[in-house]
Amino acid sequence: MFHFPRAYLDRRSLTPIGSVQPPHPAVVVGEIIRLRSFRASRRLCVTQCTITDGTVPLNVVWFNQPYVARSLAKGVRVILSGNVSDRRGVHMQNPDVEVLSGETREFLHTMGLIPIYPLTEGLGQKKIRRLVHAALDDFLDRLEETLPDSLIQGRGLLSRGQALRGIHFPRTHDEIEKARERIAFEELLALQLCLRSATSSQAGTGIAHGAEPTLTRAFRSHLPFTLTDAQERAIAGIFRRMESSRQMNVLLQGDVGSGKTVVSACAMLKAVENGRQAVLMAPTEILAEQHLSSLGELLRGVNVETVLLSGRCPSSERRRATTLMASGRPALVVGTHALIESSVTIPNASLVVIDEQHRFGVNQRAALRQKGVNPDLIVMTATPIPRTLALALYGDFEVVTIDTCPPERHPVETRHIPDAGRNRMYRLLRETLSTGRQAFVVCPEIGERSDSGAGAAARVTETRTEYAKAFPDCRIGVLHGRLCAEEREKALTRFRNNDFDILVATTLIEVGIDIPNASVMVIESADRFGLAQLHQLRGRVGRSVHKSHCFLVAEPSTPEAIRRIELMTTVNDGFALAEHDMYLRGPGEFLGTAQSGIPPLRVAHLVKDFALLEQARETATAILDADPQLMLPENRPLRALLGDRMRQNVDL
Ligand code: ADP
Ligand code: MG
Repeated sequence: MFHFPRAYLDRRSLTPIGSVQPPHPAVVVGEIIRLRSFRASRRLCVTQCTITDGTVPLNVVWFNQPYVARSLAKGVRVILSGNVSDRRGVHMQNPDVEVLSGETREFLHTMGLIPIYPLTEGLGQKKIRRLVHAALDDFLDRLEETLPDSLIQGRGLLSRGQALRGIHFPRTHDEIEKARERIAFEELLALQLCLRSATSSQAGTGIAHGAEPTLTRAFRSHLPFTLTDAQERAIAGIFRRMESSRQMNVLLQGDVGSGKTVVSACAMLKAVENGRQAVLMAPTEILAEQHLSSLGELLRGVNVETVLLSGRCPSSERRRATTLMASGRPALVVGTHALIESSVTIPNASLVVIDEQHRFGVNQRAALRQKGVNPDLIVMTATPIPRTLALALYGDFEVVTIDTCPPERHPVETRHIPDAGRNRMYRLLRETLSTGRQAFVVCPEIGERSDSGAGAAARVTETRTEYAKAFPDCRIGVLHGRLCAEEREKALTRFRNNDFDILVATTLIEVGIDIPNASVMVIESADRFGLAQLHQLRGRVGRSVHKSHCFLVAEPSTPEAIRRIELMTTVNDGFALAEHDMYLRGPGEFLGTAQSGIPPLRVAHLVKDFALLEQARETATAILDADPQLMLPENRPLRALLGDRMRQNVDL
């Protein structure tokens, strides 16, 4: 019953046989006056018949469908639906056929709006239609309603039963629409309720930070650059929410390089100047360390204790970190997943920041937050998320957007380099390196999971050799998952200190890495990367006043890969790319696996049903404000709707 059609065939009107007109498909009714079935060759079995409805006869032919003949006989009335051809006389070819008997049977395959289902091997349309039809007949009455009556009445929705019948066997297009609307609304409401029960934020439960800027003022006056207006607006928006007693949930969005780090640093300092701790969680150790060192830079001239907790901290450092956290002394804590381990407590944390959110799931978000007592929360995305998706997945978040990048940045010039253009690219690269800039060269992981891939390491080594040949007087470093942590860090530090001209790496450098002197990004086999990843990689350059380039080395062979490369060379704006990406891949794929715990959307479409999504969001808020635990009798249906999903989140 929940395997929904992907489309419908309109076979509602009968055509008199005399009016059948090739090449238009037709639905006709008639009596069989001639029938024969024979083998035309070893490979070809032919069934021919002629029917008439009293006007004129019509010839029909089926190829290689011997079972059709078995169900037919002379004198039987049939309904046929299919294509009409006029090669060698007007005739129907391979139509769907159903025998008309005296009973009032429904014609599942030939008449009306016929559902077309997604198929799987060994299961054909007709079989699915019959099964669904039988299931509806048997079980529809026993199905529980999943929406409160008031909601159904109030919105004029179909009942659950009506909607299921309507989506499978509609009589009109209008009925399909009504059925879709009901089911889509239900899905979106479940999604919103589910997200909200994971991160509730009620007035009066959060921490009201004080507004007196002691540290943050000093911090700003020591910055080596002036904050952009967009950054100022973001900071003001976040401060206002931190000062309120409602628990803050902010999704901080900004294109790659828009300067999210300094905004979050400011927010963290606000927690510290309030005598609290602030926690920043990054997806990788390299990033956590980079954050720690760039915070150190930014915080020069401001006296704040900082500490790192990651999986590879030596135990003495680890002890220092956990002791500091437990003591509750005002401080900045930076770390990786190690922060969510159960032994870690951060009772005095009043702000949690999660960087590059797409690497973390809903559950991890909630787990980190529970280390403190109702701390405020900021999540930062690696690349922008389309607005519709942000609303769907962060229904309980307010979106704060940094909508412009720091001035004096040139957009990264992006070019597609086919194999034949490699030497030209080398020439351009040589020119840039000779002016003192540096370059990244990124190789894809092939058939391996990220950062442990031996295949990727081999690729890096091969590529290094290739570049060493082409650039004999350049210093070339490598970075891949097969190196031990220390070696990785050393490679990155040496590149940062300009000891290498070129760094050949895997996508370990994908997120967040900030080395402004690097102005060229070469992506080898660029057709193997997704759009978000390509944009993220490109974002590693163009972080200073120097003109930057991104070279996509690829011979794309699929239409999707060609389109991705084309989009990359024409679109620089991460928000626009994200929209394209979502269209190309669909919301599910776009999200990847990280967003676990999110209910599936079978009917609802995040782009087309945007209005409905907003309504579902409002409805969810109203319901949970009035009845946070869904205990009222009228909300009982919703408990059935959420069922397992609610339980999952409560377990956190
Ligand atoms: P992202 O938003 O991609 O995380 P970062 O926070 O890493 O970007 O910032 C990118 C670079 O821009 C960093 O080198 C940072 O120091 C610099 N930066 C941030 N804000 C400004 C600004 N207002 N003016 C100039 N440079 C800035
Ligand atoms: Mg960043």
